Amino acid sequence: MKQKRKLFIFIGPPGSGKGTQAELLTREYNINYFSVGEILRTEVRNKTKLGREVAAYLRSGQLAPDEVVSKIMFGKLKRSRKDIIFDGFPRNVDQAVSLDMELDKMKIQRVVFEITLPTKKIVERIMGRRYCVCGKTYHIKHNPPVRNNVCDSCGRRLKTRADAKSDVIVKRQEIYLLQTAKVLHFYKADGGYLLKKINGDRTIPVINQEINNIIKELK
Ligand SMILES: [Zn+2]
Repeated sequence: MKQKRKLFIFIGPPGSGKGTQAELLTREYNINYFSVGEILRTEVRNKTKLGREVAAYLRSGQLAPDEVVSKIMFGKLKRSRKDIIFDGFPRNVDQAVSLDMELDKMKIQRVVFEITLPTKKIVERIMGRRYCVCGKTYHIKHNPPVRNNVCDSCGRRLKTRADAKSDVIVKRQEIYLLQTAKVLHFYKADGGYLLKKINGDRTIPVINQEINNIIKELK
């Protein structure tokens, strides 16, 4: 019998490493990975109609509206024939409910990976990030350059992202936890989703192995 197509919903705060884990899976499985953040940034960069609309929201410090985000992600869901990873969607209950209605129209197995990490660790991870204008990224603790604060590949000074401030990160984390608790509650109550909690406070390969074991046991 043909296996059902699968949707993996990755839920985790910024800095939890969920994007890294999702990308690893795309190398190991025949799977499409859709990150809301990445999709929106690409649209903005390419100055598409949608991109200009989104840019206006972002400039005023708002998030892109639910309808806009949902429409994009439903498009990806319908056009893809493979298994799918959603990263950053749904981010609230309204989005989760509308996604649920879309999923009910199709035969698709639903798995939610919740990657957890204490706020203290998130602050440490994000504060330690450095980047270079050439595109290379570093972490002062986990992936430092050879020479302190200098890019290995081009020799320029490394930079810190403007939003890498501990009070900003903590505030963002509080909002995230509030929203996420509601989304997870919805998924628990629904019963149509397999929920897996992953401890994100471990090395990348160890977490990857655990996720892999879960995927292999799916039927
Ligand atoms: Zn560089």
